[in-house]
Amino acid sequence: MRTPINVAIDGPSGAGKSTMARLLAQQLGFVYVDTGAMYRSIGLYAKRAGIGLEEIEAIVPRLPEITIQLRYTDGVQHIFLNGEDVSEEIRTEIISRYASAVSTLAPVREYLLELQRGLARDHDVIMDGRDIGTVVLPNAQVKIFLTASAEERARRRYQELLEKGQAVEYDQVYQDLLARDEKDTSRAAAPLKPAADAVQLNSTAYTLEETLERMKTIIGEKTQNVL
Ligand code: C5P
Repeated sequence: MRTPINVAIDGPSGAGKSTMARLLAQQLGFVYVDTGAMYRSIGLYAKRAGIGLEEIEAIVPRLPEITIQLRYTDGVQHIFLNGEDVSEEIRTEIISRYASAVSTLAPVREYLLELQRGLARDHDVIMDGRDIGTVVLPNAQVKIFLTASAEERARRRYQELLEKGQAVEYDQVYQDLLARDEKDTSRAAAPLKPAADAVQLNSTAYTLEETLERMKTIIGEKTQNVL
């Protein structure tokens, strides 16, 4: 059996990583690994445990109570927190804040690292996150750093939340996104930054289809002799 192909997609919140990763995985027959969903699930556990955002370190001694699994139903990824499907519940603004908070803690990152690396060892994966190309899969054959302007990212996220029926204000979404960008790029543990060997792609002016085509071209070029 050949070595699994690992595609790392990193970038700031709302750049379209998960949409792209999901479509690419479907079209290439790879496993999609959404690492943000893992941080969100730990964030959800912290919130349910009554831990406040200002005392988030209290989650660390409770990590052994947490089991996270990815399962696929008809090709759609579902995430399970201690056996419960939390795929929908983790997609709210409050859980975005919790995810961002727990992700600053090195023990949380270490805890998820093994799970993430294990999946990449066993399968062809498209893995998206903030530190995949730099920390989780430094040897990934393909690394893409996907960005878009903050205004465009906030517009997309706002649209997505509206479509889900959540009552949100654009300005709030924009401010939250800036705060998360700041937190993701300035934290000491695995900050968001492009890997030295990542291909940078700015999708501000592209449609979803155009971005997808460009990403497929990059993956095709980097895996020429394998796929
Ligand atoms: O990508 P998503 O918005 O679902 O991620 C939620 C939060 O989890 C991000 O704001 C980021 O702080 C954190 N995260 C991370 N490292 C990853 C994936 C997500 O720190 N690999």
